[in-house]
Amino acid sequence: MSNVEVRFFNGGYCRQLLALVDHRSWKFDRFYAVFLAVRHPDEGWVVIDTGYGDAFKQASRRLPWRLYRWLMLMRADASAAGTLAEAGIAADEVRHVVITHFHGDHIGGLKDFPSARFHYHENALRSLARLTECRQALSAFFPALLPGDFSKRARWITSERFAQDEEVPFMSHDLFGDGLIRLVHLPGHAPGHVGVLLKTEGRPIFYAADAFWRFCQIEKPGNLMLPAYAVQWNADAYDTTIAKLREVHQDGQWELIACHGAEAQQQVAGARTAERQVASNK
Ligand SMILES: [Zn+2]
Repeated sequence: MSNVEVRFFNGGYCRQLLALVDHRSWKFDRFYAVFLAVRHPDEGWVVIDTGYGDAFKQASRRLPWRLYRWLMLMRADASAAGTLAEAGIAADEVRHVVITHFHGDHIGGLKDFPSARFHYHENALRSLARLTECRQALSAFFPALLPGDFSKRARWITSERFAQDEEVPFMSHDLFGDGLIRLVHLPGHAPGHVGVLLKTEGRPIFYAADAFWRFCQIEKPGNLMLPAYAVQWNADAYDTTIAKLREVHQDGQWELIACHGAEAQQQVAGARTAERQVASNK
């Protein structure tokens, strides 16, 4: 059976008080907006999320969205397309983008992919699109980040197409029907929030997106501090998802990685080292 190749990239970052997550580190830490490029044997490069991207500053220029930029202390210094180009991946040839959820730090680069179809859970956008502008900004959703022809290229996946996964305690949808890339529904953080199961050559990856932020949440039961807890779409579902992810971690079969955690940064560093080796061998 074939596998996928996975590469991790940074798409900007914000700075937040780490104690909101771990209750003890009273310092500001970077929360990188990581995105992935996954090479599928038949479909080519599939991009998972897109970081803040170039468009974020423009999209957050006016109130109420400007408040988010001030509060999040965010920084984006490269586009998703530019970052991928440096790694030898042409964004205009990418045919599939998976959107784990519609927070601004995950959809900032959607406009960089003019040939892509956008795959996401049916509830992910619908629930946010209905909100008032203020509620959208509070929910970290920036409609201006969606490409003008988004609806034409949108391929939302209905809830019925998610079925109980055989390997993990969640509902999943097999993107291409070959088991290599499965979207896994991880409720709580945002409406229709999904992670992605990736069958790689080595240990398979369970990419949890924002189902948790830092690994301490998985290793030690304990709630987020209130301001961080309050931004979760459904706090009870968020806790249930984390409890199940703890089982997945304890089971040990999957490499569990969240978007904003240290494990993702190890993968980003690994991808950079691999690129340098390829360049020096040329
Ligand atoms: Zn998020």
